[in-house]
Amino acid sequence: MQSEVAPQRQPSPARGIAAVMRWFDTSASSADVDPALDERVDWLRALPFAGMHLACLGVFWAGVSATALWVALGLYAARMFAITGFYHRYFSHRTFRTSRPVQFAFAVLGASAVQRGPLWWAAHHRHHHVHADTQADPHSPRNGFWRSHAGWFLTRAGFRTDTSRIGDLLKFPELRWLDRYDTAVPVALAVLLFAVGEALARRAPGLGTNGVQLLVWGFFVSTVVLFHATVTINSLAHRLGSRRYATRDDSRNNWWLALLTFGEGWHNNHHFFPGSARQGFRWWEIDLTWYGLRMMQALGLVRALKPVPAWVLATRGAHEVGR
Ligand SMILES: [Zn+2]
Ligand SMILES: [Zn+2]
Repeated sequence: MQSEVAPQRQPSPARGIAAVMRWFDTSASSADVDPALDERVDWLRALPFAGMHLACLGVFWAGVSATALWVALGLYAARMFAITGFYHRYFSHRTFRTSRPVQFAFAVLGASAVQRGPLWWAAHHRHHHVHADTQADPHSPRNGFWRSHAGWFLTRAGFRTDTSRIGDLLKFPELRWLDRYDTAVPVALAVLLFAVGEALARRAPGLGTNGVQLLVWGFFVSTVVLFHATVTINSLAHRLGSRRYATRDDSRNNWWLALLTFGEGWHNNHHFFPGSARQGFRWWEIDLTWYGLRMMQALGLVRALKPVPAWVLATRGAHEVGR
């Protein structure tokens, strides 16, 4: 009966102001905390996310150059590596060790991807592994494609960080700062790109670029494509592909998602054994992040990369299910 539905909350100035303040400071005012609204998209708070998509239309105004495309591609690659190598395999799963400066440097690079801070990311991802494809999983495609892809990211519950899952990371004040002011690094990157573009327009006009063009391609287009590529692992990698291991969730191995996300597409491997820094378990399962981490290990920047244990490789057959 309609009469039993909870009454609609009226928009209030206090809730609106709180949402806008949290564009800049995620710990600002809790005036709009209301459990009844947890699963709804917080449209006011999501405005910058929508705005980034609209800003991509700026390509029609700013034009394009080889320089702008290389910058966009370079930033996609560097930030995808930071997200998969550090936000995911390091902060969420602790599959290798590193120094505090390197940890911070890649936390900053990850934060520039506009996927919030490393603590937020790790807390949500650890929750996903515990509850994958159950009612408690915020981004299971069993609840619809849009919800699993981007909807969950924009709900009130999606914006919050469950600190009980990240006790090991809370002791680093520099990481807590990145989470609290999670738009600071992205704004700095946007300003830097504009400044570099303007400097190039003056000093190297032959490159055919300028501030607006680098801002649109290097920041908005690169970031939006990077976001949608990352979240295909929540939406498509629980739907499309093959299942080597009969895990309790719907995770799949998918080679083209693995190429797009630098190795994350071997998602069924990963759900079966999340404790390895490597996700492509076979030599032919291309895992660019794993190669990058191996390179960093050779340079002494990271250490103790956790390999795929022999028993996991040996379970081939017994746990393999075809599709
Ligand atoms: Zn998953
Ligand atoms: Zn994971």
